[in-house]
Amino acid sequence: MRSPTAIPGPTTSATAPSTSPTGTVAPSATATSAEAGLPVLTPQPTVSPALALGSPTSADPGDSDPLTEAVQARTEEVRAVRTKTGVLGAVVDGGPFEWTMITPCFGTSLVAGPEIIEGPIDVLIDPGHGGDETGAVASSGLRESHVNLVVAQALEQRLVARGYRVLLTRDADHRVAIQSRAALALALQPAVFVSVHHNGGFPELHGEVGTEVFVQQGSEQSQRLGGLIFDELTAAFADIDVDWVANRTRGVSWRSNVEGTDLYGVLRRTRGVPSVLTEAMFLTNPPEAALLADPAVLAAEADALARAIDRYFSSADNGSGFIEGLIFRGDLGPGGGTDGCKDPALR
Ligand SMILES: [Zn+2]
Repeated sequence: MRSPTAIPGPTTSATAPSTSPTGTVAPSATATSAEAGLPVLTPQPTVSPALALGSPTSADPGDSDPLTEAVQARTEEVRAVRTKTGVLGAVVDGGPFEWTMITPCFGTSLVAGPEIIEGPIDVLIDPGHGGDETGAVASSGLRESHVNLVVAQALEQRLVARGYRVLLTRDADHRVAIQSRAALALALQPAVFVSVHHNGGFPELHGEVGTEVFVQQGSEQSQRLGGLIFDELTAAFADIDVDWVANRTRGVSWRSNVEGTDLYGVLRRTRGVPSVLTEAMFLTNPPEAALLADPAVLAAEADALARAIDRYFSSADNGSGFIEGLIFRGDLGPGGGTDGCKDPALR
C-alpha cells in the first residue's frame, strides 16, 4: 500500500465555485483565488513507473500547428459543426452555409448544411480511442474503445437530464486524433473536459479498485474535478468484492513529460480548459473485465462520474485520492496521433 501525499483539504474559503451549469459562464471565470484554497501541485523529479498498456493518449510532442492556431484565433460564435453523419468537428473557417471543419483525423473538410454549434458548453466528454485504435483489450476480447464510448454516452444522458449542455468528441466507433479532440475543447470552451478511459497493463493485486485519474499540472480546477471523480468512482465500486489490481499511481495525480508539460496530449493541448483523464478500472484484469462487460457496472460508473461533475459545479468540495505526480521518462508510443488514421464518412 502506497503512502499517498495528501493535498490538504479545503481550508479557509467556503465560497462556492463560480462555475455554473448554464453554459453562460466563461471557464476563465472559475480561476479565482477564492476557489477552495487548493494547493497547486508542481512537478518534482521522480522515477517513473512503467506505463499501463493501452492507456496512453500521447499524440505529437510538437503542439503548435496551423489548424489549432486557427481554432484559437477564431472569434465567431459558431465554434463547431456536426455533420449529417453525426461527426463533430471544430470549425476553422466558413459560414453561413458551408464550413471548414477539422476532421477526426485532423485534416479539414468543407461541409454543407451541418448542425451549427456555438460555445461555450458545460461538459465535453471524450471517449478515448476508437476504430482500429482499440486501447486496452481484455482477454475476452472486450475493447477499451467500446467501454469508453458506452460510459461516455451514459454519462451524457445523465448530465443532459440534469440540465447541462454536453457534447461528445466522438459518438461512434472511429478514430479521433488527440489533436482533433483538443481542438474541440479549445473551440467549444467547455467548463470541464473529461476524457474517459479504462486501464491496461498487469499491476499487482490491491484491496480496492485501482482507479487512476490524471489531471493538468498547476490547474486547481482540474485537480478538484479529478479529486471528485476519484472520490465518486472509488465509492461506487467499494462494495464490489473482486480481486482488484492497482498501480502505485492509484489516485489523482499529474504526469509530465521530460519537457515539464503534461504527458497526455488531451491534458496538455487543452490547457485553459479544466481537463481530466479517468481510468476507472483494469480491462486487463479478467475479474474487472467481467465487471466492465456488465451494463449495470457501466451505468454505475456513469452515475458516479455524473455525481462528481455535479459536485464540481455545485460545491467547493475537493474530493480525495491526491498523490504526487511523476515525470515520465519512457516512450508513450504512437497512440492517439494521425498516422494511418482514416476519417469516418462526413457526408
Ligand atoms: Zn485508454
